[in-house]
Amino acid sequence: MDMEVFDIHLHVGQLFEWSPEAVRLWMDTGPYRPLIYDDQGCLVPDKFCRVLADEGVTGGVLLPEYSPETAGTMPVERCFEVSERFPQFVPFGAVNPLVHDDVVGEFERQLALGVKGLKLHGVHGLYLVNDRRLYPLYELCRDRGLPVMMHAGTSIFPRTKLKHADPYLYDEVAADFPALPLVLCHGGRGFWYQLAEFMIIRHPRVHIDISGLPPQNLLRYYPKMERMSEKFLFGSDFPGVPGLKRNVEALGRLGLSRAARENICRRNALRLLGL
Ligand SMILES: [Zn+2]
Repeated sequence: MDMEVFDIHLHVGQLFEWSPEAVRLWMDTGPYRPLIYDDQGCLVPDKFCRVLADEGVTGGVLLPEYSPETAGTMPVERCFEVSERFPQFVPFGAVNPLVHDDVVGEFERQLALGVKGLKLHGVHGLYLVNDRRLYPLYELCRDRGLPVMMHAGTSIFPRTKLKHADPYLYDEVAADFPALPLVLCHGGRGFWYQLAEFMIIRHPRVHIDISGLPPQNLLRYYPKMERMSEKFLFGSDFPGVPGLKRNVEALGRLGLSRAARENICRRNALRLLGL
Protein backbone atom coordinates (compact mmCIF):
# COMPACT_ATOMS: atom_id res chain seq x y z
CA MET A 1 0.00 0.00 0.00
CA ASP A 2 1.49 3.31 -1.01
CA MET A 3 -0.94 5.68 0.68
CA GLU A 4 -2.96 6.06 3.85
CA VAL A 5 -6.64 5.32 3.51
CA PHE A 6 -9.53 7.04 5.27
CA ASP A 7 -12.65 4.90 4.85
CA ILE A 8 -15.83 7.00 4.79
CA HIS A 9 -18.19 4.01 4.92
CA LEU A 10 -17.75 1.61 7.85
CA HIS A 11 -20.64 -0.18 9.55
CA VAL A 12 -20.83 -0.87 13.27
CA GLY A 13 -23.38 -2.87 15.26
CA GLN A 14 -23.55 -6.16 17.10
CA LEU A 15 -23.83 -9.25 14.94
CA PHE A 16 -27.26 -10.05 16.41
CA GLU A 17 -28.56 -6.55 15.63
CA TRP A 18 -28.18 -7.18 11.90
CA SER A 19 -31.00 -9.16 10.28
CA PRO A 20 -30.11 -12.72 9.21
CA GLU A 21 -30.57 -11.62 5.56
CA ALA A 22 -28.12 -8.75 6.02
CA VAL A 23 -25.54 -11.13 7.46
CA ARG A 24 -26.05 -13.63 4.66
CA LEU A 25 -26.37 -11.28 1.67
CA TRP A 26 -23.99 -8.51 2.70
CA MET A 27 -21.70 -9.16 5.65
CA ASP A 28 -20.74 -12.66 4.59
CA THR A 29 -19.59 -11.45 1.17
CA GLY A 30 -16.44 -10.64 3.14
CA PRO A 31 -14.12 -12.67 5.38
CA TYR A 32 -14.42 -10.32 8.35
CA ARG A 33 -17.30 -11.66 10.48
CA PRO A 34 -15.21 -14.23 12.39
CA LEU A 35 -12.55 -11.58 13.07
CA ILE A 36 -14.45 -8.71 14.71
CA TYR A 37 -17.10 -10.18 17.07
CA ASP A 38 -16.82 -12.06 20.35
CA ASP A 39 -18.61 -15.34 21.21
CA GLN A 40 -21.78 -13.45 22.11
CA GLY A 41 -21.81 -11.60 18.79
CA CYS A 42 -20.68 -8.28 20.25
CA LEU A 43 -18.40 -6.09 18.17
CA VAL A 44 -14.95 -5.92 19.79
CA PRO A 45 -13.53 -2.43 19.17
CA ASP A 46 -9.92 -3.62 19.47
CA LYS A 47 -10.42 -6.32 16.87
CA PHE A 48 -12.44 -4.03 14.59
CA CYS A 49 -9.63 -1.47 14.56
CA ARG A 50 -6.84 -4.03 14.25
CA VAL A 51 -8.48 -5.69 11.25
CA LEU A 52 -8.95 -2.31 9.58
CA ALA A 53 -5.35 -1.30 10.31
CA ASP A 54 -4.19 -4.57 8.70
CA GLU A 55 -6.19 -3.54 5.62
CA GLY A 56 -4.39 -0.19 5.52
CA VAL A 57 -7.22 1.93 6.96
CA THR A 58 -6.00 4.59 9.39
CA GLY A 59 -9.34 6.30 10.06
CA GLY A 60 -12.91 6.45 8.90
CA VAL A 61 -16.57 7.19 9.46
CA LEU A 62 -18.73 4.88 11.59
CA LEU A 63 -22.32 4.42 10.48
CA PRO A 64 -25.32 3.37 12.61
CA GLU A 65 -28.62 2.41 11.02
CA TYR A 66 -32.29 2.24 11.97
CA SER A 67 -33.89 -0.14 9.45
CA PRO A 68 -35.91 -2.61 11.54
CA GLU A 69 -37.82 -4.01 8.53
CA THR A 70 -34.75 -4.93 6.48
CA ALA A 71 -31.15 -4.58 7.68
CA GLY A 72 -31.73 -4.25 11.41
CA THR A 73 -31.25 -1.63 14.13
CA MET A 74 -27.63 -0.74 14.85
CA PRO A 75 -28.02 2.24 17.22
CA VAL A 76 -25.78 5.29 17.30
CA GLU A 77 -24.33 4.17 20.65
CA ARG A 78 -22.38 1.46 18.79
CA CYS A 79 -20.34 4.15 17.05
CA PHE A 80 -19.17 5.60 20.35
CA GLU A 81 -18.13 2.21 21.68
CA VAL A 82 -15.46 2.33 18.96
CA SER A 83 -14.74 6.05 18.62
CA GLU A 84 -14.26 6.73 22.33
CA ARG A 85 -11.31 4.32 22.34
CA PHE A 86 -10.17 4.97 18.78
CA PRO A 87 -10.79 8.64 17.94
CA GLN A 88 -9.43 8.24 14.40
CA PHE A 89 -12.93 6.86 13.73
CA VAL A 90 -15.65 9.48 13.43
CA PRO A 91 -19.20 8.75 14.66
CA PHE A 92 -22.17 9.67 12.47
CA GLY A 93 -25.82 9.81 13.43
CA ALA A 94 -28.82 8.25 11.71
CA VAL A 95 -32.58 8.64 11.86
CA ASN A 96 -35.63 7.09 10.25
CA PRO A 97 -38.96 8.95 10.13
CA LEU A 98 -40.78 5.60 10.47
CA VAL A 99 -38.87 4.84 13.68
CA HIS A 100 -38.36 8.25 15.28
CA ASP A 101 -41.53 10.30 15.84
CA ASP A 102 -39.36 13.38 16.23
CA VAL A 103 -36.41 13.05 13.82
CA VAL A 104 -35.06 16.48 14.74
CA GLY A 105 -35.18 15.78 18.47
CA GLU A 106 -33.47 12.42 17.92
CA PHE A 107 -30.72 13.90 15.78
CA GLU A 108 -30.18 16.69 18.32
CA ARG A 109 -29.77 13.99 20.98
CA GLN A 110 -27.16 12.31 18.76
CA LEU A 111 -25.40 15.63 18.13
CA ALA A 112 -25.16 16.14 21.88
CA LEU A 113 -23.51 12.71 22.10
CA GLY A 114 -20.94 13.89 19.55
CA VAL A 115 -21.88 12.76 16.05
CA LYS A 116 -20.17 14.67 13.20
CA GLY A 117 -22.67 14.07 10.41
CA LEU A 118 -25.83 12.21 9.42
CA LYS A 119 -26.35 8.99 7.46
CA LEU A 120 -29.73 8.30 5.90
CA HIS A 121 -30.73 4.95 4.47
CA GLY A 122 -34.09 5.44 2.79
CA VAL A 123 -33.78 2.20 0.83
CA HIS A 124 -33.42 -0.02 3.90
CA GLY A 125 -35.46 2.33 6.10
CA LEU A 126 -38.33 2.30 3.56
CA TYR A 127 -38.72 6.09 3.35
CA LEU A 128 -38.07 8.77 0.72
CA VAL A 129 -35.08 11.10 1.23
CA ASN A 130 -37.15 14.04 -0.05
CA ASP A 131 -39.68 13.44 2.77
CA ARG A 132 -40.48 16.93 4.06
CA ARG A 133 -40.10 15.69 7.64
CA LEU A 134 -36.38 15.41 6.91
CA TYR A 135 -36.01 18.96 5.58
CA PRO A 136 -35.38 20.54 9.02
CA LEU A 137 -32.45 18.11 9.37
CA TYR A 138 -31.03 19.23 6.03
CA GLU A 139 -31.34 22.86 7.16
CA LEU A 140 -29.62 22.06 10.44
CA CYS A 141 -26.75 20.18 8.76
CA ARG A 142 -26.38 22.87 6.11
CA ASP A 143 -26.18 25.61 8.74
CA ARG A 144 -23.57 23.69 10.75
CA GLY A 145 -21.62 22.45 7.72
CA LEU A 146 -22.24 18.80 8.67
CA PRO A 147 -22.15 16.24 5.85
CA VAL A 148 -25.22 14.14 5.09
CA MET A 149 -24.55 10.70 3.63
CA MET A 150 -27.36 8.93 1.77
CA HIS A 151 -27.50 5.39 0.53
CA ALA A 152 -27.95 6.11 -3.18
CA GLY A 153 -28.57 2.96 -5.14
CA THR A 154 -30.37 -0.34 -5.11
CA SER A 155 -30.32 -3.05 -2.46
CA ILE A 156 -30.88 -6.79 -2.83
CA PHE A 157 -32.29 -7.15 0.69
CA PRO A 158 -35.82 -8.62 0.87
CA ARG A 159 -38.64 -6.06 1.31
CA THR A 160 -36.62 -3.15 -0.15
CA LYS A 161 -38.33 -1.19 -2.93
CA LEU A 162 -36.86 0.53 -5.96
CA LYS A 163 -39.02 3.62 -5.46
CA HIS A 164 -36.91 4.55 -2.41
CA ALA A 165 -33.80 4.52 -4.63
CA ASP A 166 -35.24 6.85 -7.29
CA PRO A 167 -32.39 9.23 -8.32
CA TYR A 168 -34.74 12.19 -8.68
CA LEU A 169 -35.38 12.15 -4.91
CA TYR A 170 -31.68 12.75 -4.27
CA ASP A 171 -31.44 15.39 -6.96
CA GLU A 172 -34.38 17.20 -5.36
CA VAL A 173 -32.62 17.40 -1.98
CA ALA A 174 -29.39 18.56 -3.65
CA ALA A 175 -31.28 21.23 -5.61
CA ASP A 176 -33.25 22.42 -2.56
CA PHE A 177 -30.11 22.56 -0.36
CA PRO A 178 -27.25 23.67 -2.63
CA ALA A 179 -25.00 24.49 0.34
CA LEU A 180 -25.52 21.15 2.09
CA PRO A 181 -22.50 18.81 1.91
CA LEU A 182 -24.03 15.65 0.50
CA VAL A 183 -22.57 12.20 -0.17
CA LEU A 184 -24.24 9.73 -2.54
CA CYS A 185 -23.15 6.40 -1.06
CA HIS A 186 -22.53 3.73 -3.71
CA GLY A 187 -22.88 6.48 -6.37
CA GLY A 188 -26.17 5.36 -7.92
CA ARG A 189 -25.40 1.63 -7.79
CA GLY A 190 -27.54 -0.41 -10.10
CA PHE A 191 -28.98 1.89 -12.71
CA TRP A 192 -27.95 5.50 -12.28
CA TYR A 193 -24.17 5.94 -12.29
CA GLN A 194 -24.48 8.47 -15.10
CA LEU A 195 -27.03 10.54 -13.18
CA ALA A 196 -24.84 10.44 -10.07
CA GLU A 197 -21.88 11.74 -12.07
CA PHE A 198 -24.09 14.47 -13.50
CA MET A 199 -25.15 15.42 -9.95
CA ILE A 200 -21.56 15.88 -8.72
CA ILE A 201 -20.90 18.12 -11.72
CA ARG A 202 -24.11 20.09 -11.37
CA HIS A 203 -24.26 20.42 -7.57
CA PRO A 204 -21.10 21.94 -6.04
CA ARG A 205 -21.46 20.20 -2.64
CA VAL A 206 -22.47 16.71 -3.81
CA HIS A 207 -19.96 13.83 -3.62
CA ILE A 208 -19.89 10.14 -4.50
CA ASP A 209 -18.68 7.44 -2.13
CA ILE A 210 -17.47 4.43 -4.10
CA SER A 211 -18.29 1.84 -1.43
CA GLY A 212 -19.91 -1.35 -2.65
CA LEU A 213 -18.73 -0.85 -6.25
CA PRO A 214 -16.25 -3.10 -8.05
CA PRO A 215 -13.21 -0.79 -8.38
CA GLN A 216 -12.24 -2.20 -11.78
CA ASN A 217 -15.50 -0.78 -13.20
CA LEU A 218 -15.20 2.74 -11.80
CA LEU A 219 -13.93 4.50 -14.90
CA ARG A 220 -16.67 2.89 -16.94
CA TYR A 221 -19.29 4.12 -14.45
CA TYR A 222 -17.66 7.56 -14.04
CA PRO A 223 -15.60 8.56 -17.08
CA LYS A 224 -14.83 11.95 -15.48
CA MET A 225 -13.37 10.46 -12.29
CA GLU A 226 -9.85 11.86 -12.81
CA ARG A 227 -11.07 15.36 -13.64
CA MET A 228 -13.68 15.29 -10.84
CA SER A 229 -11.42 13.56 -8.31
CA GLU A 230 -12.25 16.13 -5.61
CA LYS A 231 -15.81 14.76 -5.60
CA PHE A 232 -15.08 11.07 -4.99
CA LEU A 233 -14.56 9.41 -1.60
CA PHE A 234 -13.15 6.00 -0.81
CA GLY A 235 -15.50 3.81 1.22
CA SER A 236 -15.58 0.07 1.70
CA ASP A 237 -18.97 -0.86 3.28
CA PHE A 238 -16.91 -2.92 5.79
CA PRO A 239 -17.52 -5.54 7.09
CA GLY A 240 -19.60 -6.41 3.99
CA VAL A 241 -16.77 -6.25 1.47
CA PRO A 242 -14.92 -9.17 -0.12
CA GLY A 243 -11.50 -7.51 0.31
CA LEU A 244 -10.87 -4.00 1.55
CA LYS A 245 -7.16 -3.71 0.81
CA ARG A 246 -7.74 -5.46 -2.49
CA ASN A 247 -10.20 -2.70 -3.44
CA VAL A 248 -7.64 0.00 -2.62
CA GLU A 249 -5.07 -1.83 -4.73
CA ALA A 250 -7.50 -2.21 -7.63
CA LEU A 251 -8.22 1.52 -7.40
CA GLY A 252 -4.48 2.04 -7.73
CA ARG A 253 -4.44 0.13 -11.02
CA LEU A 254 -7.03 2.32 -12.78
CA GLY A 255 -4.43 4.69 -14.16
CA LEU A 256 -5.55 7.66 -12.06
CA SER A 257 -2.90 10.23 -11.13
CA ARG A 258 -1.39 10.05 -7.67
CA ALA A 259 -3.01 13.38 -6.82
CA ALA A 260 -6.44 12.04 -7.79
CA ARG A 261 -5.92 8.89 -5.72
CA GLU A 262 -4.85 10.95 -2.71
CA ASN A 263 -7.99 13.04 -3.09
CA ILE A 264 -10.19 9.96 -3.24
CA CYS A 265 -8.47 7.90 -0.54
CA ARG A 266 -8.06 10.58 2.10
CA ARG A 267 -7.94 14.28 1.33
CA ASN A 268 -11.57 14.84 0.27
CA ALA A 269 -12.93 13.08 3.34
CA LEU A 270 -10.75 15.05 5.74
CA ARG A 271 -11.83 18.29 4.11
CA LEU A 272 -15.50 17.30 4.16
CA LEU A 273 -15.27 16.46 7.86
CA GLY A 274 -13.20 19.50 8.73
CA LEU A 275 -10.34 17.36 10.07
ZN1 LIG B 1 -23.32 0.69 3.72
